[in-house]
Amino acid sequence: MEKKIIGIDLGGTTTKFAILTSDGEIQQKWSIDTNVLNEGSRIVPEIIESVNHRLGLYDMDSSDFIGIGLGVPGKVDREAGTIVGAYNLNWRTVQPVKEQIERETKIQVAIDNDANVAALGEQWKGAGDNDPNVVFVTLGTGVGGGIISEGKLLHGTAGCAGEIGHVIVDPDGFECTCGRKGCLETVSSATGVVRLARHLSEKFAGSSELKVQLDNGEEVTCKGISEAAQNEDKFAVMVVDRVCFYLGLACGNIANTLNPSSIVIGGGVSASGQFLRSRVETYFNTFAFPEVAQSTKIKLAVLGNDAGVIGAGSLVL
Ligand code: ZN
Repeated sequence: MEKKIIGIDLGGTTTKFAILTSDGEIQQKWSIDTNVLNEGSRIVPEIIESVNHRLGLYDMDSSDFIGIGLGVPGKVDREAGTIVGAYNLNWRTVQPVKEQIERETKIQVAIDNDANVAALGEQWKGAGDNDPNVVFVTLGTGVGGGIISEGKLLHGTAGCAGEIGHVIVDPDGFECTCGRKGCLETVSSATGVVRLARHLSEKFAGSSELKVQLDNGEEVTCKGISEAAQNEDKFAVMVVDRVCFYLGLACGNIANTLNPSSIVIGGGVSASGQFLRSRVETYFNTFAFPEVAQSTKIKLAVLGNDAGVIGAGSLVL
């Protein structure tokens, strides 16, 4: 029988698992709640239990697998196979995750961060069409990214390559959690979009249901802003247009540097789909070098939640 791979996407609330063929086709998938209590001390033991339990169910053992690939929301030391800090998981000290999982499953383990594995997933089996040059941007609670260039996932000298959320799009902009000002994340994450709307509403004089909600102190969400824009609320359209300007600027500069075949946009904020993509593309075309604008495409992610497990699995190939 052809050997399989296991992809694991460890998140702050759920951990997703998949058994894949070496071609990246998902054969089985399941998930468990991530137990972050007691400084996350149960997370790895529960992953091991879940893997071993499933292998038992399917009458498989370690010899049926090439390896286990794991994506984690934290800083990874890939050589040592350790996680150096993952605050979503309540991990404050170095976690020897590779060694623990290998010891208990007898399967070799490869680890990378969650944004990088999602990038690999989209590049391999998703919108990237398995092209060797793909950039992935994920818009969610934060903004993450991953870069595959000439077939290799880039890590950089300190593991910070692909930190697209901290590309600066407005040097006088909002303060970022990283200590700098005007990072892409401050205007295109879910909270960033709302912050931008609040800021822009001060100067908007026309009639808008969204502006009324903001002025009344009602709860406004990124999703609500996006829906209002699609329903042609003038102010909401202005906010989304500004978000797309920043995304187009960041994508233009990234493409001028790397000239990927595509920049793939994923994550919750991108749920507005074509409405967002087409606007980002319009700005992208104004910022990208002409030959870059012609050769680099702006695309939407297609794998959704499966990108993580597929990309994680690809780490072992
Ligand atoms: Zn930042």
